[in-house]
Amino acid sequence: MPLALPIELESVNCYLVLGDDGITVVDPGWAWDDGEQRLVRALAAFDAGPPDVRRILATHQHWDHYSLACRWRREFGTHVALGREEHHSIDDYEADAPPYLHQSELLRTGGAPDLAALMDARTRPVLERGLAFDSPDHWISDGERFDLGGVELSAVHTPGHTRGHMVFVEDKAGLALTGDHILPRITPSIAFENIADPLALVRYLESLRLFLDRPDLGMLPAHGLPQPSTAARAAELLAHHDERLAEIESHLAAGLTTAHDVAAAMPWTRHAKRLDELGPLHAMTAILEVSSHLQYLAHVDRAASTTRAGVAHYELA
Ligand SMILES: [Zn+2]
Repeated sequence: MPLALPIELESVNCYLVLGDDGITVVDPGWAWDDGEQRLVRALAAFDAGPPDVRRILATHQHWDHYSLACRWRREFGTHVALGREEHHSIDDYEADAPPYLHQSELLRTGGAPDLAALMDARTRPVLERGLAFDSPDHWISDGERFDLGGVELSAVHTPGHTRGHMVFVEDKAGLALTGDHILPRITPSIAFENIADPLALVRYLESLRLFLDRPDLGMLPAHGLPQPSTAARAAELLAHHDERLAEIESHLAAGLTTAHDVAAAMPWTRHAKRLDELGPLHAMTAILEVSSHLQYLAHVDRAASTTRAGVAHYELA
């Protein structure tokens, strides 16, 4: 069921699994009253309330999936499970610290010191203040199986969007709760978290290929409508990144060397805006996206990188 969100993104899909031993909630959404009330109403349709929820599984640690899990854990003692590798970002979280310290470091390396300074001066958005960001009761490992009472979900570690992202597969029905790993209309952001993996795009593309190599599944994403095929959508996302990588290589061939300069040469959003027409947050995302593609190219020896005065410069290998 789609739950409203207090951010640009319209809604997050929460899933209820009705097992013989009770209700499991996957991705309960943002800890705010509108979303919470909607979920409470949905549970009421099954004669249940929040205290009856047996467990919460979260695909990843982003606010729009996990923060209500933390609230219900505190309020009702609900058992919460989250991918193990999310501990990096949760351990590092400081509610009062500037929210983009890690990203601004990457911006400096990417040759965008002015934007880095701007991001350092930012305070946490009002919406995020006061949200609980706790460790779960249980850290999920790759391949772990959850017997939900007649329904079995197995967790597939799919790092990329975040380090500890999990897709939950129900083999009997041939369905996958794909979280933000495979989304129907948009390309998920990569490594938007407190402590990101420097090779996040390498990990992400590997995590997409997992769905080419296994029997095809119906796709239940965390945003947007269900889709018939995880394999088909994974292939589209891989093709999108191939195009992006080729485009970035062409800018390296033309003599550009930093993430900032390459990003400034590329069109952004479907309106083909220039980098300097984007707001700071979107400009940051654009530069970090290019930077993760450049790191990918270096990782697979299609580019070589050297660091001068704290800035990473790339050229074609
Ligand atoms: Zn999301």
